[in-house]
Amino acid sequence: MNNYSSRLLDQVVEEFAKLPGIGRKTALRLALHLLRSDSNNAERLADALVKMRNEVQFCKFCHNISDEEVCDICSNPKREKGTLCVVEDIRDVIAIENTSQYSGRYHILGGIISPMEGIGPEDLNIKNLVKRIQEEDIEEIILALPTTIEGDTTNFYIFKQIKGMEIMISTIARGISIGDELEYADELTLGRSILNRLPYENTLKR
Ligand code: ZN
Repeated sequence: MNNYSSRLLDQVVEEFAKLPGIGRKTALRLALHLLRSDSNNAERLADALVKMRNEVQFCKFCHNISDEEVCDICSNPKREKGTLCVVEDIRDVIAIENTSQYSGRYHILGGIISPMEGIGPEDLNIKNLVKRIQEEDIEEIILALPTTIEGDTTNFYIFKQIKGMEIMISTIARGISIGDELEYADELTLGRSILNRLPYENTLKR
């Protein structure tokens, strides 16, 4: 409990401060801003949050966030149906979309294999990736996971699940600095690495 003289204010500060990257100072600033501004602002914010939380769903094909059962990317007839880019999470989709260099569709794993954090293949959308490859007319899979040990492990696990199927498996070019996570790559580098993707098997060193 702080000395805000209002428990209600304190509650709002508490909630804001739980958000990533928001310290107590910022939380207080946001709360006071809402308190001082038009009461419609607070209402609109509250409504938008509740609506998003209740109504956003995951696309039944790619697991992207969507307002409908099928997301805008999957339902867009201009997107190439034969290419799937496999990414860790939604932030990667946003990063790749920002490069404007990719016109296929996605498959979002919802994480990567991490024994340290207790995340195994069964916790991720890998089974339905395999199913999509079997059922849809997929010609190429682009593995665009982070260049970390976990990313490599996940790539290799997926590769083992789908090798032998008649598709091309490629990966975004290694050896260029893309940082730990795709979302931090600058758009030019990321866009270029998608265009210059390599056959995955070439990247396996024995
Ligand atoms: Zn989708």
